[in-house]
Amino acid sequence: MDMKYVYGPVPSRRLGISLGISPIPKKTCNYSCIYCQLGRTDKMTNTRQMFFPVKDIIKEFDDFLKKDVSFDVVTIVGEGEPSLYLGLGSLISEIKERTSKPVAVITNGALLYDADLRDELNKADIVLPTLDAYDEDTFSRINRAHKNISFKNVSQGLKAFSKEYKGQLWIEIMLVKGINDDDESLKKYKSILSELKYDRLYINTPVRPPAESDVEAIDNERMKTAVEILNGISIDLLESEGFYSEISDDLEAIVSIIKRHPMNQFEVEGFLESRNCPRIKEIVENLRNDERMNVINYKGYDTFRLK
Ligand code: SF4
Repeated sequence: MDMKYVYGPVPSRRLGISLGISPIPKKTCNYSCIYCQLGRTDKMTNTRQMFFPVKDIIKEFDDFLKKDVSFDVVTIVGEGEPSLYLGLGSLISEIKERTSKPVAVITNGALLYDADLRDELNKADIVLPTLDAYDEDTFSRINRAHKNISFKNVSQGLKAFSKEYKGQLWIEIMLVKGINDDDESLKKYKSILSELKYDRLYINTPVRPPAESDVEAIDNERMKTAVEILNGISIDLLESEGFYSEISDDLEAIVSIIKRHPMNQFEVEGFLESRNCPRIKEIVENLRNDERMNVINYKGYDTFRLK
């Protein structure tokens, strides 16, 4: 059965084996980040909405739990920004009633200036907000937010949340070559971070094909420097283990994962190996020729994304 809201489990570099729950329609966001792996945002909104009934999402979650597939964490994440979902607080509560596994929320953090949202997020065990910018200029260059959101909103919201939140706060900074990765930028992050209370800092760089083709990842040397200066953890380049699908046809299983999570060629091969597929080369070739796929060559290898 193809599920609409629940997907995976998929491997997450930060969270382990993660069961994803997506409560918002595709590409619905209050940012349109230059590095977004979904491409440009087509539904730009800053209004929180009840896109789907909480009970429909929970129904699918219940169905999934019946299958007895193991996972480490339930992650609310979307093909867009999950904090725009007005039912977020009740969704977290309902999930927590059904599992003892931690609930994580991956968010761009833009709406943390909204006290109601901060209360809702307080129910989650782990919140992973992004902090890509350090001033209005970098904010408009990288995140290209909805017109009602300023960098000041975002930084004040994150600051307020970091003081109130009782769970694990894991901040992520995405460093884009030539925009926010120089020494001066790193110094500015350091000063912002010194005012926040958080548990971990992850440093990332765009390793999947970005929305804008001129966006470049930083190199290993720069990453090392950033990790040192900011006292962060670098997110490795590739994920390889832990993709799961119950669909028996190999090609369709891959397509169903890619619907939610672009995969690169190594991930596809690793997934096929884990299923003991005897025809890995052939399936990868079929995938390349599948008309539902966008095949993007980036950083020397192919990434598959749904059209
Ligand atoms: S916040 Fe996330 S979903 Fe929204 S545009 Fe940025 S990267 Fe894409």
